[in-house]
Amino acid sequence: MERFSALVTGASRGIGRGIALELARAGCRVAINYAGNAEAAAEALGLVREAGGDGFTVQGDVAVAADRERMVAETVAQFGRIDLLVNNAGVAPKVRADLLESGEESFDRLYAINLKGPFFLSQLVARKMLEQAPDAGGMRGRIVNITSISVYTASINRGDYCMVKAGLAMMTKLFADRLGNDGINVYEIRPGVIATDMTSGVKEKYDKLILEQGITPIRRWGKPDDIGRAVRAIAEDRFPFSTGAVFDVDGGFHLHRL
Ligand code: NAP
Repeated sequence: MERFSALVTGASRGIGRGIALELARAGCRVAINYAGNAEAAAEALGLVREAGGDGFTVQGDVAVAADRERMVAETVAQFGRIDLLVNNAGVAPKVRADLLESGEESFDRLYAINLKGPFFLSQLVARKMLEQAPDAGGMRGRIVNITSISVYTASINRGDYCMVKAGLAMMTKLFADRLGNDGINVYEIRPGVIATDMTSGVKEKYDKLILEQGITPIRRWGKPDDIGRAVRAIAEDRFPFSTGAVFDVDGGFHLHRL
C-alpha cells in the first residue's frame, strides 16, 4: 500500500486523526483536512510521519464549494490520485436544544457541514476517481462516510444532528449504487460514543451510561483508533465484494437487548 493516497476530512483532531494515523501505519499518504485548527493539523501530520506514513495538511471548510475544489485539486497535485475519501468532518449542535425550540441557524449549519459538504465533496472526488486507472485489485477508489448511531437513535435535544446523519446514511447507499459497477466501493461507518473533543462536554453523562449502567455490551468508551482500524481494513480492500455496507463500530450499542 506504499502509494495509496487518502483524503480525510476533519483529520486534525478526534476520529479523523485516528483514521489518518491508522492509515499511516499501513504506509499511506494522507491529505489531512482541517477547518481552522492549523496547530492540531500540523501535530497530526507529525504523528502520521512518525507512524510510517506521509502527507500534507490542507485547510478547507467542507461546507464551502471553493474550499472543496481546492482540497481535491491540492490532493491530486500532491499525490497524483485519490484512492480513498473519508467524509469524517462533522459538528454537533452548539447547544443541545429541545426539538420544539431548536432554531434554523443550527439546522443550516449542521446540514451544510455534515451533509451538503460531504455530498458535493464525494461528487467531486468520484468524478476524479472515475478518471483514474484501476489499481492491481481492479479498484478505482473507495469512499467512507462516518455517520453515527444517531442515524437510527432519536435524541430530541439534537434532532438536527440525527436528521442530517440519517441523510448521510442514505447518501452512502446512493453513491454505492451509482459507482458499484465502476470499481468504486462506498461504505458507512457508524461510530458509537467515542472519546474526542466533541464528547468531552458530556463526559460525565456518558461515563455513567457506559461504565455504570452498561448502555453498551462492551463497557468502555470508543477510541478514534477503533474507527481508524475499520477504515484501514477498507483501505486494505478486505471487503471487495461489499458496497453500501454499514459497519457498526459502537461497542454493541445497536443491539436490541432485554
Ligand atoms: P471533533 O473531535 O470535534 O473533531 C472535528 C474535526 O472536524 C476537526 O478535525 C475539525 O477541524 C473538523 N471540522 C469541523 N468542521 C469542519 C468543516 N466545516 N470543514 C472541515 N473540517 C471540519 O469530532 P469527532 O468526535 O472526531 O467527530 C468526527 C466525526 O465523527 C463527525 O462527523 C461526528 O459527527 C462523528 N461521530 C462522532 C462521535 C463521537 O462520539 N465523538 C460519534 C459518532 C459520530 P479543526 O480541528 O480545524 O476544528
